[in-house]
Amino acid sequence: MLVEDCVFCRILRGEIPSDKVYEDDKMLVFRDIEPKAKVHLLAIAKEHFAFLSDADERGRELVSYILFKIPEIARKNGCADGYRVVINQGADAGQTVFHLHIHVLGGEKLPW
Ligand code: 5GP
Ligand code: ZN
Repeated sequence: MLVEDCVFCRILRGEIPSDKVYEDDKMLVFRDIEPKAKVHLLAIAKEHFAFLSDADERGRELVSYILFKIPEIARKNGCADGYRVVINQGADAGQTVFHLHIHVLGGEKLPW
């Protein structure tokens, strides 16, 4: 189910444009509007889950599905030499969009 005032649900409904790099029946990957690396992708489920910490069984299946699609998507989008996968969970991590999303950062040597 999608949520009315969620920015990523709005992207899924096509109400906000996005630079899509991959889509299937379960997930969407698009470019972050404020990239923190040369390549910065966001991978989301086509269902609304706010947090990793409250994903139910369906959410867990989707997160796993998305996670293991990422290697191929990253390789095809300029991250053949490596990339970082990040999930910001909650306030201390600076989560700003409460629709679970997986950041894929790469395209350059990343500082740690
Ligand atoms: P968070 O800090 O919640 O893990 O990351 C949210 C990310 O979503 C941020 O990197 C931010 O730049 C990105 N973002 C927020 N609004 C939009 C939008 O409307 N379009 C796109 N493409 N990215 C967005
Ligand atoms: Zn949402």
